[in-house]
Amino acid sequence: MLGKSDDDGNSVKQLLRAGNTRTDSAHNRYHIAPEELIRAQREGRKTGLDIVGFYHSHPDHPAQWSKTDFAEAHWIGCSYVITAVEQGQAKTTNSFLLTGASEEEKRFEDEALEIDVTGVEENVASQAAKMSVDVKEGDKA
Ligand SMILES: [Zn+2]
Repeated sequence: MLGKSDDDGNSVKQLLRAGNTRTDSAHNRYHIAPEELIRAQREGRKTGLDIVGFYHSHPDHPAQWSKTDFAEAHWIGCSYVITAVEQGQAKTTNSFLLTGASEEEKRFEDEALEIDVTGVEENVASQAAKMSVDVKEGDKA
């Protein structure tokens, strides 16, 4: 997710789709390749936006972060958006802000994500729903 970050938090202005680079079916989690992050940063630079967060879906699981989500979250100050998808339909979407001074002290805080673009919320939900076709997360929170 590209957007802007200020004292009021993160605001999302643009969504980019990232492919799932994980192919091991036993631990089928979301993962974004470093080159995709670089591509996203370049894309954002053109319009003055930064990476402000990431989103993924939880097929038939609540929209709450899992242990895996927490372990794999390293971007302090970024928003981690999770959409619960039930039977292929996007339901609840929650956002968690990764805070803390370091990797050791990091924690997730519930947040209300600021959405500045009309339709982005629906977009997040529908893209997350699409992602659920090839991204399934087996671990439970
Ligand atoms: Zn997750």
